[in-house]
Amino acid sequence: MSKIIKIKNLKKLKINKCPICKKGVTINFDPFCSKKCSDIDLYNWISEEYYFPENNKSQSE
Ligand SMILES: [Zn+2]
Repeated sequence: MSKIIKIKNLKKLKINKCPICKKGVTINFDPFCSKKCSDIDLYNWISEEYYFPENNKSQSE
């Protein structure tokens, strides 16, 4: 019975990976591994926001 409990705990301990560089997440910068990756993701998100309407416009003309 104690074995089953240990397996369940292992599943809970699954470490999230940084979506930018796939390294283990640091608690201070969750869900990223570092400030750098957090900035990269923010930049990607902002540039996509800018790019999307521009792309849409050029497709229709
Ligand atoms: Zn990272």
